[in-house]
Amino acid sequence: MTDTDKKDPKLSPTGNFSKQDAPPYEGSLQCMRCGFCLPTCPTFVLTGRERSSPRGRVALARAVAEEKLDFTEAVKEESFFCLDCRACTTACPSGVKAGEIMEICRDQAHQLKPGGHLSTGFRNFILQKMMPSPERMESAMLPSRLYQRLGIQWLVRHSQLLKLGPDWMAKAEGMMPKMDKPLRLQLPEITPAIGEKRGKVGFFLGCVMTLMYPEISRQTVRVLAHQGFEVVTPKQTKCCGAPHLTEGDRKTARDLALFNIDLFLDQDVEYIVTDCAGCGSALKEYEELLEGEADHHRLAQFRSKIRDISEFLAEVGLRTEALKEIKRSVTYHEPCHLCHAQGISQQPREVIRQIPGIELREMKESSWCCGSAATWGLKFTDESQQVLDRKLNNVKQTEADILVTGNPGCQLQLAWGVREAGMPQEVKHLIELLGEALPESDND
Ligand code: SF4
Ligand code: SF4
Repeated sequence: MTDTDKKDPKLSPTGNFSKQDAPPYEGSLQCMRCGFCLPTCPTFVLTGRERSSPRGRVALARAVAEEKLDFTEAVKEESFFCLDCRACTTACPSGVKAGEIMEICRDQAHQLKPGGHLSTGFRNFILQKMMPSPERMESAMLPSRLYQRLGIQWLVRHSQLLKLGPDWMAKAEGMMPKMDKPLRLQLPEITPAIGEKRGKVGFFLGCVMTLMYPEISRQTVRVLAHQGFEVVTPKQTKCCGAPHLTEGDRKTARDLALFNIDLFLDQDVEYIVTDCAGCGSALKEYEELLEGEADHHRLAQFRSKIRDISEFLAEVGLRTEALKEIKRSVTYHEPCHLCHAQGISQQPREVIRQIPGIELREMKESSWCCGSAATWGLKFTDESQQVLDRKLNNVKQTEADILVTGNPGCQLQLAWGVREAGMPQEVKHLIELLGEALPESDND
């Protein structure tokens, strides 16, 4: 029985929702319909449609809970059309969490309005068989590496082939970074601290980071070691569960969360650091996801240790004496799951400003979504392009050399967008910038 089932049905009715994982009714009651959230919501700005706004979505969820509305196709569509960017949560004076309510509605959609056998079977295979297994995910990436190494990618990109398929396919192909060997098996389980030791931290190596951006996470471990921290990277780490929450599979997300909590609490580390904003946000929300299903003290203990890398470095204080000068200008894009979901906005800027020689140029609307939002950017390619264009225009105005961010999904979308738009900016993770400023040798 879930915690939702145990709630008093009079106080927290589930109405026309399935009882299993129904969105919290009290959450939708908090909306006073003020409209402060409207200009911050990318899907409302794109469509001007009330039902595609945070206020409209919360009203839909409330109507389903109060049995004034069935869980209709429209409710299902809105739950998947929401980017879960959480910009509305930052803007809302009542603390309404429309993005999280819609995330839970996606699970409801799979319970109440499942797709066809083929699409459901494929989805379950990816979420339940592939993603929980690092080994299977690593094997699945081999064809992509061969595709690039054997020159097939070059041929495909220089032919008309991609124009024959759907838009999402051409975009997905264009977003693919250079695929190297996954990092998980290359990283030592223990990386010793360099210089005076300041502590011991666990490193949560996310799936997208190890598979698509291994060099960034290698730099994260290197930076942590140079900052005086012994780094423990458990090889058994599983997916954080963020893709499962995004796709409405809360059951598998809970299984993954329970596994990762046990794994990391056994490591005797003071902090658990991640360089992926999406992972950090999911890890920090294990408490809510597992409410009533795991020991409260263990959940609180795990939550208290999670830090984004920028948050961690700002908190412990960056050792800057060995950093080299980098004479470049940068602008910073705030990942939604860092600024809106975790409230981390100033810390990345503090770190950037401390790198000698770097000039930080603020862009307008730095916390406006980039239009990636996991698979949203592939499902809604036109809308995603419009959201991205607004971002790229703001980047352009800064004339900065480098566009810095802190989430792999944003980095994939922005790197692709910048290239397609013929813009000169390099797109980098904050930690790549910091890695460049470190001494060449790890013995220095
Ligand atoms: S969700 Fe929040 S900001 Fe939006 S209308 Fe409701 S109370 Fe106002
Ligand atoms: S999470 Fe983002 S897209 Fe969804 S309702 Fe809120 S602002 Fe709109």
